[in-house]
Amino acid sequence: MQSYDVIIIGGGIIGNCIAAHLANENLKILVINSTKLGNPASVAAAGLITPFQIHELVNTQLKELCLKSFEYFFNFHETLISKSNIPGLDLGLRQSGSLYTIFSNSEIAQKENEIKEFKSTGGKVSFLNKMELQKLEPSITKDLMGGDHYSDEAYINNPKFLKAILSYCQQQQIEYLDSEVSEIVLNKSSIEKILLPDGKSLLAEKYILCNGVWADSFLRKLFKRNESIIKAIKGEILEVQTNLETTLQKIVFCEDGYLVPRPRTNKFERSSILVGSTSDEVNIEENPDLFKNTLYGISKLTALFKKLIPAHNNYNIASMWSGLRPKTHDNLPVLGKTDINNLLLSLGHYRNGILMGPYCGKIISGLITGSEAELNLEPFSINRLLKQKSSVLV
Ligand SMILES: Cc1cc2nc3c(=O)[nH]c(=O)nc-3n(C[C@H](O)[C@H](O)[C@H](O)COP(=O)(O)OP(=O)(O)OC[C@H]3O[C@@H](n4cnc5c(N)ncnc54)[C@H](O)[C@@H]3O)c2cc1C
Repeated sequence: MQSYDVIIIGGGIIGNCIAAHLANENLKILVINSTKLGNPASVAAAGLITPFQIHELVNTQLKELCLKSFEYFFNFHETLISKSNIPGLDLGLRQSGSLYTIFSNSEIAQKENEIKEFKSTGGKVSFLNKMELQKLEPSITKDLMGGDHYSDEAYINNPKFLKAILSYCQQQQIEYLDSEVSEIVLNKSSIEKILLPDGKSLLAEKYILCNGVWADSFLRKLFKRNESIIKAIKGEILEVQTNLETTLQKIVFCEDGYLVPRPRTNKFERSSILVGSTSDEVNIEENPDLFKNTLYGISKLTALFKKLIPAHNNYNIASMWSGLRPKTHDNLPVLGKTDINNLLLSLGHYRNGILMGPYCGKIISGLITGSEAELNLEPFSINRLLKQKSSVLV
């Protein structure tokens, strides 16, 4: 039976960022990732690196995690680029700033309070009137009252980012296996082994579960729960082809969603705008058409584009897709060790997994290597989610 120091289950942004941080620790590491289960959230995401727009930031623990993640994101990206050995590698990271568009006086009043709160988190934000906004983004609707400008916020081409992390890990001799883990075998209070669909078993000193929305069935079995611990929130995205120089420079938010520029990063690509995103809870065990776009979703996103850029008829659709956000009931991720001795978790990053991926990778790898934690992980423990109702799986 093959054995490893660490087996990472799930190779989305979360699993790969952990692997990247463990790469130089002289450990035998295996990442098991199935490419057949559906579009990973890490590929489906819009690539927003926008910690000041997160509504759930009223939660102080989430705020601290998002702000630390934001700070660390740029360091991680720089290190990745410098270690890639690819001259001129462009992962589409742009610190363009974002605009929160305001359509009514009542929204202005409501936003004023939020701005005070955001300023206290150290974010740079200023109010722009209609004229100033039109100057910055001439294509945007004239129906606006104004907007808040968050100058630090950024976006990245997340599929490229994920690919670059994966390729770095492979260069560092991290092993990858394209397979589904079918079972995690528990023996008393430790994981004994994991099983693959072909009946093969694999062993490790430590196991890290980071397989997004698919983690729920494992968690329910391991922790003997009937209720879901990680829910799946489907999001659809529409990609509109455009020349960004003349259409959109900044990320634009409104209460119905957002537009994100996706610039070309080489001469073979075309630039586009991502329009996102819908948000609907789905049951992954019962819905065979989970990853299909729906008329409901695409008409909603088309209406959003039209609301923000009224000359909408001039644009072609480049693509559309969907993905599943992994969400806990309190919107906080699940991070760290568990009462199962050799099992660690990094799950439930909901809308912010791209932003949080690198920092969570650093935290989880630190727990493996024994370096001092820079964040109190107590609020992120799985135990908070197990406390609510104690129902034993029968
Ligand atoms: C439409 C949409 C827009 C989003 N926009 C943003 C954004 O702008 N900014 C942001 O920060 N976040 C965004 N997110 C959230 C972000 O994408 C997620 O939080 C993050 O990608 C979760 O990463 P993950 O690695 O946990 O999961 P995933 O990326 O889903 O990866 C899990 C992987 O595990 C594999 N797997 C599952 N089960 C098994 C198994 N049993 N055995 C082996 N492999 C398995 C899957 O095949 C998959 O490859 C968005 C999400 C969606 C859906």
